[in-house]
Amino acid sequence: MKLPLTGGCFCGALRYEIAEAPLATYTCHCTDCQRLTSSAFSIAFTVHDHAFRLTAGDPRLLQKTAGSGRIATRWLCPDCGSWVCSSPSAWPTPTETVRRVRAGTLDDTSWLRPTEHFWIRSKQPWVTLPEGDKVFGTEPN
Ligand SMILES: [Zn+2]
Ligand SMILES: [Zn+2]
Repeated sequence: MKLPLTGGCFCGALRYEIAEAPLATYTCHCTDCQRLTSSAFSIAFTVHDHAFRLTAGDPRLLQKTAGSGRIATRWLCPDCGSWVCSSPSAWPTPTETVRRVRAGTLDDTSWLRPTEHFWIRSKQPWVTLPEGDKVFGTEPN
């Protein structure tokens, strides 16, 4: 992994830079992610919010109550509609301000290896998770 990490939306209008290594990389098998990605799960990672910086574009912010009951604010490119990241939240501890970034928006995804898996309660049955990884029926809180 080379720092800073760089990435952006499908059309390139929204770009970001991340100065620190991610805290955790995970897959999410919730039905919201399945619908939003038209896939079996999404891949995302968490970073300290102070390490994240938008370098181009002006995101459109969309709010929705997630399956967990938490209000999630998604940052979308207003031009191409790509979901790039979410607003920072106090998670996993109240004192830590962490941002979740959609891992597929990275320019280089070669180093990605999710080691935690959320919402396996709604995981599609053909998906096999690597042995030894951390799994959560819903998600850690
Ligand atoms: Zn775009
Ligand atoms: Zn999800």
